[in-house]
Amino acid sequence: MGLAKDLGLNAEMDRAGGHDFGNIVVKVPASPGYEQAPIVIIQSHLDIVALPEERKNEPLELILDGTILRASGSTLGADNGVAIAIVLTLMTEKEIVHGPLELLFTIDEETGMTGAHALSDSVLSGKYLINIDSEEEDVLTVGCAGGNRTYINMRLVTESPAAGYTPIRLIASGFKGGHSGMEINRGRANAGQLLARLLFVERGNFNFRLVELGWGTVDNAIPSEAFAVVMVKIEQLADLKSALKRWEESFRKEYGSVETNLEITFEEDVNPPDYVLTQVSMTNTLALLVSLPHGAAKMSPDIPGLVETSSNLAVVKMDQRELSISISQRSSTDPSLDWIVSKCEACAILVGANWEHSSRYSGWQPNMQSKLLEVCERSYKSLFGKSPGVSALHAGLECGLIGAKYPDMDMISIGPTIWDAHTPTKAGFRPGVDSGVKGERMDTARMSDFWKFVQAVLKNLAE
Ligand SMILES: [Zn+2]
Repeated sequence: MGLAKDLGLNAEMDRAGGHDFGNIVVKVPASPGYEQAPIVIIQSHLDIVALPEERKNEPLELILDGTILRASGSTLGADNGVAIAIVLTLMTEKEIVHGPLELLFTIDEETGMTGAHALSDSVLSGKYLINIDSEEEDVLTVGCAGGNRTYINMRLVTESPAAGYTPIRLIASGFKGGHSGMEINRGRANAGQLLARLLFVERGNFNFRLVELGWGTVDNAIPSEAFAVVMVKIEQLADLKSALKRWEESFRKEYGSVETNLEITFEEDVNPPDYVLTQVSMTNTLALLVSLPHGAAKMSPDIPGLVETSSNLAVVKMDQRELSISISQRSSTDPSLDWIVSKCEACAILVGANWEHSSRYSGWQPNMQSKLLEVCERSYKSLFGKSPGVSALHAGLECGLIGAKYPDMDMISIGPTIWDAHTPTKAGFRPGVDSGVKGERMDTARMSDFWKFVQAVLKNLAE
């Protein structure tokens, strides 16, 4: 705000983050002769992930390792500091050719996109928006997923365990898991849903009763392990153990090279429970967990290989009274998000469970006819002699939220390559010696190419 004021630029701040803190829009007049060009919005986010926590308020110890820039002992903050640097340069540098600009700085992207959520639907007047929060310079991002959460609760009915039964704990482990958006396209198994499926099928072959079943801790991770406790008839214990071995082999066959380390194991040293689910309650529980959608549900008709709609059967908890389930769905289109959310609701209704939907936000549907996309592709090709990739994320970007408020906005997301964003580099990093270690870093040589690209796009949009 200070810099904009010093430069005599019109700047406004909203109150998205409280009384004196919010999203900022700075208006930069066009270069002489380009006053009639379309207004272009350039968007960045003001927050960074500063790790480790104890170094949060200390200055960065920047290290240049060849052309690779890092911060020793912490994250670099290139996400999204690099965009801020570009935008500040556009404010101060008079030589760059562009039409009228609206520079949008949002707050709290990393912690729930609260800035973009709270953005007014009347503060921007441009029709084109360039978001500089992507992390691969040779890829133009043209879409992202919206999302929703569904919580299902079902009352459980229990009774005392019958005589002649013994408890056994089943464990599904060694699954890959991963991010429920970025890695849902890999066909990985949901450890918990497989355990539920195994029990669902075997309920007809064995006399057992469910005591507990659970998995998952967060909505955005694919469940990589799960457990179940059942009471089984003592004389069937040995057969059940052999059945588990067969299921393990069968799951390995089913998931092939995707899940090579999965295991279905058991423990017999389990405290005898004082209740089991009734037959009906157990069947409903297992049927519900087998029916709820998990994984990629629909592929994008526009972008090959992009998952359009998915569901993550993320967290399942049980106590004597209640089964609680948390599902997170994603889609790049609203109608398709409605579809997958309805499916979850329908499953709940079939077994008489309660449901609640929350935290819904819109996606950003790819528009392959976008003028902005055409200009970016053309600018990239003329600078670097090759075509950029065009892709969409099956995860959230602020563009989804902004697009919901400005439905006619033509948007694109770009950015210079950043590796290991949000990961701190170890303290005492030695250039040349520790070059292979992880940590947020970027290539300064490639950064200058990216900067040329941004300038070419602005010039081509203005002409
Ligand atoms: Zn970011």
